[in-house]
Amino acid sequence: MVTILANGFVPESLAECLELKAKRSLTPYAGGTDLMIEEDRGGQYLFLHKIPELKRIREDDDNLYFGAACTFTELLESALAPAILKAALSRIAAPAIRNTGTIGGNIGNGSAKADSALIFFVTDSALKLSGSKGERLVPIQDFYLGRKKLDLQPDELISEVRMPKKWLSKYDYQKIGARKSLAISRLSFAGLFAEENGAITHCAVAFGAVSDVIIRRKDLDSLLIGKTIPDAKAAKSAYIKAYEEAIVPIRGRVSAEYRKETCLNLLKDFLNKMGI
Ligand SMILES: Cc1cc2nc3c(=O)[nH]c(=O)nc-3n(C[C@H](O)[C@H](O)[C@H](O)COP(=O)(O)OP(=O)(O)OC[C@H]3O[C@@H](n4cnc5c(N)ncnc54)[C@H](O)[C@@H]3O)c2cc1C
Repeated sequence: MVTILANGFVPESLAECLELKAKRSLTPYAGGTDLMIEEDRGGQYLFLHKIPELKRIREDDDNLYFGAACTFTELLESALAPAILKAALSRIAAPAIRNTGTIGGNIGNGSAKADSALIFFVTDSALKLSGSKGERLVPIQDFYLGRKKLDLQPDELISEVRMPKKWLSKYDYQKIGARKSLAISRLSFAGLFAEENGAITHCAVAFGAVSDVIIRRKDLDSLLIGKTIPDAKAAKSAYIKAYEEAIVPIRGRVSAEYRKETCLNLLKDFLNKMGI
């Protein structure tokens, strides 16, 4: 059943929600923690908090699935959410924001500072987009087309995040903010690493709050994959140099020079921690 409010609609199923989205110009409203600071232009909202399909947390053999309207707190309390995701979620804002803010809103806001999105980048997660014509699965790296530009059609919603289970166990996560809590990322870093029989089987890094879109360069990380630790040590400076060239920071409250230097320091720390 759909509840009609003065400022929008509250559907109780995904089908109702998508039907409304296809017919009207409605702004999806999940936790409202980003929308609440925007000027109210009198538009109508599509409230997402009562849709069970968007609240599901589940798994199969290969993947974890997180409904887009899951709040940060719900994921922090879930036994299925991996430690790397919890490390980032626990550093978001303060309890009141974590109780209402959602991963769908974090992604849908289109910011490279989004702390959960960083983890979805480094884990090569994909987004399920649901619309009136059906569903499609898009790798998160392809979903972001630029600053606040998303590959999302007017009739579509982000309905789920699919995260591969492989490679999640050995990770590093760093958030640089102006203070220890309630700080938006000035810079953030996440890395995953795996080694088997002396050879590197996986290496993935991502940098948040540096450019218009979170940086994830599989082509550069492949420089280390397949190498032994001694060979990776020998390739370390070339790997760091490749990132030095690839990272083109935007200027904001902190300088581009600071952003780049800090990114490279976080990358070096990650490599040290992984024995390289
Ligand atoms: C005080 C404060 C501190 C904050 N600290 C942090 C922080 O430390 N780290 C951080 O990452 N963020 C932080 N934020 C930003 C915000 O809390 C997050 O981005 C949060 O995840 C937004 O989720 P939401 O559900 O509240 O989104 P909403 O405000 O409901 O929506 C945000 C945007 O996403 C769209 N949207 C929502 N759901 C969907 C969907 N399913 N499909 C498509 N589009 C959708 C909306 O239309 C809107 O454009 C902070 C905000 C505040 C106010």
